[in-house]
Amino acid sequence: MIGSMKKFCKPLAIVTAVACLTGNLTGMQGKAFSKQAYKPEIGAVFLAAAAPLDDTSVPDGTSQPSGAPPDITPEPVRTPEPSDTPKPTDTPKPTDTPKPTNTPKPTNKPKPTKKPKQKLAFRISQKKNKITVKWNKLDDVSSYLFYLKEQGGKFRKTVIKKGTKRSFSVQYGKNYYVKMAVKNKRNKTFSRTGKYQIYVPEKVGTVHTVSMGKAKMKLTWQAVRKADYYYIYRKAAGQKNFALLGKRKRCTFVDEELKYNKDYSYKIIPVTERKGYGYKGRGRSKLFSNKKLVSDSHQKYTYTEMEGDIKSLVKKYYGMVHYKVIGKSADGRNIYDVIIGNQNAPKSILVISTLHAREYMASLVCMSQIEYYLQSSQEKIAGQPVEKVLNQIAVHYVPMANPDGVTISQSGFSGIKSAVLRKKLAKISDGDSVRWKANARGVDLNHNYPYKFKKSGKAGREGYSGKSASSEAETKAVISLIQTLKQRQLKGVINYHATGSIVFGGCTKKGKVKEDTQRMYDLARAVTGYADSAAYEKEHSGGVGSLREYIVYKQKIPSITLEVGWAACPGPISEFPAIWGRNRTLVLEEAMLFL
Ligand SMILES: [Zn+2]
Repeated sequence: MIGSMKKFCKPLAIVTAVACLTGNLTGMQGKAFSKQAYKPEIGAVFLAAAAPLDDTSVPDGTSQPSGAPPDITPEPVRTPEPSDTPKPTDTPKPTDTPKPTNTPKPTNKPKPTKKPKQKLAFRISQKKNKITVKWNKLDDVSSYLFYLKEQGGKFRKTVIKKGTKRSFSVQYGKNYYVKMAVKNKRNKTFSRTGKYQIYVPEKVGTVHTVSMGKAKMKLTWQAVRKADYYYIYRKAAGQKNFALLGKRKRCTFVDEELKYNKDYSYKIIPVTERKGYGYKGRGRSKLFSNKKLVSDSHQKYTYTEMEGDIKSLVKKYYGMVHYKVIGKSADGRNIYDVIIGNQNAPKSILVISTLHAREYMASLVCMSQIEYYLQSSQEKIAGQPVEKVLNQIAVHYVPMANPDGVTISQSGFSGIKSAVLRKKLAKISDGDSVRWKANARGVDLNHNYPYKFKKSGKAGREGYSGKSASSEAETKAVISLIQTLKQRQLKGVINYHATGSIVFGGCTKKGKVKEDTQRMYDLARAVTGYADSAAYEKEHSGGVGSLREYIVYKQKIPSITLEVGWAACPGPISEFPAIWGRNRTLVLEEAMLFL
């Protein structure tokens, strides 16, 4: 076989060209190629390169698979000599006849002086779903016979008198077969190729991306029928071309070389290999943002923004964060419970923020914490691996317990959708929407809880308790969440308010609740550096209808309250970096108290 190949110029030229490219292709794995530019349009270049190296690309007649065109060529006359070394140095001699001295057995017929047998060979290239078959030109040819079979059909023959290539389109995900034969001027088939299967795989289905920290992400995708492997390409925002990251047999790829605060685009291309050719299916692209989601650079972190961030975080950190809608405000906004970590963990803690409208800075703190803990899942905070902590204790957040109120403080009374509520608001308010503290019904939610409830104040004005305890939908939602979480060992509750940079954690009852509240309080003061509230709490005992007192005394769950910021509410965004610096790790550290 090798002997005949060597004598054969044209097929050899094709095979050699192919071999160079094939060398490229096989090296196209891992980091060596991470900088290789990829243009989807010219993807076929790689493919064309994927022709086999060995001589199976030019199969001889004897290895013809079944279903091949009839071979009229007589079997080549067997060279009689047993010595299988037809020395190549002997052949080029000007005397056309092989030296008889080489043949040890004199009884045999003299070797016929015949030209080396011409061999038909082709190579296949692909551009999207267009397949091109190119073959070598042979001498003394009357026609080339091109056979094509579609899945489920029969071979159809095309007689080609001129040219050395044939192109046709295929359907993705369907089998095709090609083979060729060639006839000489005497209408005898003298060479033919093997049968080649062509299969261009279908497009990759859904691609999922999951962030695994600041520099790491995981791609997963739906397997494609008959794909043997996948190429994974990446392009950073602003870059022109996709670069090959690697090749995977399984439908998963971890990229650990991300830059933070950059957007990326990935492309997955399925490849099916048939006889050494790699047929590329259509690529599926997927965007992945490695930027911080929760924006802390503008004054008003709105309900709508928060809602969008919650959904984006759930997508980005798939499986590590979940959310539930635990209730609806009077104006139809959702009260969210965002759960980070293992939602089935045996223990939990709860953070409730922004009962008071104008204190929305606290919602931004909570949402930033959620993102930060998710982003740090593969790292340590306060010496502990974050993922491990979150696996043992789920952290629940109600990041905006008064979404209607926040909307009023940020957008005015016109931000309320309900005409009925707006009409009432016009009546009960003193006109100042920015410093609004209550919900859209004018109730101060921190006076509406069923602990020492006392009907007091005037609707729309500070401290209005509502007509009865738990009269407000927002209150009911939080109470019901606490009751649910109690079944899962709710270890502690952190309340976020603003302003004053102070921590509250008094407890007049002795026992475990007091001890744990004290531990939470001490830790919060140590971490944030916020002021001691003991003196204040002595003077202002009571907590009529307030949430923290309800949790500590009625539900018997340890609880503290933090008042973030210094300036009057709504606090200016310029205070955020300092507030963030003090509160960044706090909730996770509080959770660690209960491991
Ligand atoms: Zn408050």
